[in-house]
Amino acid sequence: MEPNCIFCKIVNKEIPSSKVYEDKHHLAFLDIAPVNKGHTLLIPKQHYEDLFDMPEDMLALTGSILKKLSAAVMKGVKADGVNVGVNNKSAAGQIVFHAHFHIIPRFNQDGLKAWPHKKYENVDEMGTYKDKIQMQLLKPS
Ligand code: AMP
Ligand code: ZN
Repeated sequence: MEPNCIFCKIVNKEIPSSKVYEDKHHLAFLDIAPVNKGHTLLIPKQHYEDLFDMPEDMLALTGSILKKLSAAVMKGVKADGVNVGVNNKSAAGQIVFHAHFHIIPRFNQDGLKAWPHKKYENVDEMGTYKDKIQMQLLKPS
């Protein structure tokens, strides 16, 4: 429990939420400012700052709930698709620093645009980026 964390306060019932799901380790509730109606947030009850802070065994549990919950959101609001996403760090748009997974129902022609795409200069540059990422995977964690 982080005293200044809004999601910890939701877990602690200090502030209300529209609860969709709860188990021993997780809570899911409606996002107060939905991208589309039915936009749901799945959070671990324990305070982790972001995805990287979450232990692997916890993430495995969260992943299986994420799949079930995403299907429920999609079918529940009769959506045509669903975006599942995590913003990690402020550069990526994270505002609440308690790990959370966005489940956003999507509809054909809902007018929302995905991220704009950039281009690599050439295949060499693309290869350089591939190498940079692969090098990190070879390092011991
Ligand atoms: P992020 O940018 O990934 O940190 O997203 C935080 C999300 O939390 C935003 O989509 C907010 O609309 C949502 N949010 C903030 N406060 C509340 C709250 N009290 N209840 C439900 N959702 C909230
Ligand atoms: Zn918290």
